[in-house]
Amino acid sequence: MGIIVQKFGGTSVADKEKLLNVCNHIIKEYKANNKVVVVVSAQGKTTDMLVLEEKEITNNPDVREHDVLLSTGEQITISKLAMYLKELGYDAISYTGWQVPIITDDIYGNANIIDINTNKILNQLEQGRIVIVAGFQGINKSGDITTLGRGGSDTTAVALASYLKAEKLYIYTDVDGVYSEDPNINKNAIKYDTISYDKMIEMAKNGAKVLHTKCVEMAKKNNVPIIVKSTFVENEGTVVK
Ligand code: ASP
Ligand code: MG
Repeated sequence: MGIIVQKFGGTSVADKEKLLNVCNHIIKEYKANNKVVVVVSAQGKTTDMLVLEEKEITNNPDVREHDVLLSTGEQITISKLAMYLKELGYDAISYTGWQVPIITDDIYGNANIIDINTNKILNQLEQGRIVIVAGFQGINKSGDITTLGRGGSDTTAVALASYLKAEKLYIYTDVDGVYSEDPNINKNAIKYDTISYDKMIEMAKNGAKVLHTKCVEMAKKNNVPIIVKSTFVENEGTVVK
């Protein structure tokens, strides 16, 4: 009974139908006798909307309040997903970053994870529950909510997989793996079965949006292989290792 971490991005959790599809991915791993920890992003364009609403107030937001606002999107997703799983007959519990807690430094808007207390998560897994954690957020030593930078849910997933010594980390997304070029632009782009951390970091820095740069750097440092897969089509994906 190993621990599996599954992360689902914004497009994968955008509406009811998509959340139910995500439930299927989770239930499949749970039924295979795994302890399942799920990390989710805010639904669809929720975070972009929050940024726009903030801009209606000020172009120079207080950094602390900025993080309080932006972190709310993920809180909506975790609670809904837990409710859907319960409706389907699977016991699940949701945690925000501060509830875990996921401890970060003080860099509001671009914080770095410095520690995770895994006790609560391990305890819930032991009781047979599916644990759902909000991506993109943590709490600093002053007790303030922090966010990890746009796209930061990937980093939450890698950090959790590392602290929980997970057997596998899946990052589910709307593409079916990592390509040599953007497959929407170049039809001859090739999909990698595996790719090195360094090559992936280089591609992320050059604008490949599939994984957050920080998350790949952390995966390299902690030697956590990342399996990038599509939420919508069933195939092998790409292993970043
Ligand atoms: N919701 C955050 C964002 O849109 C974090 C994430 O999706 O990874 O940037
Ligand atoms: Mg993302």
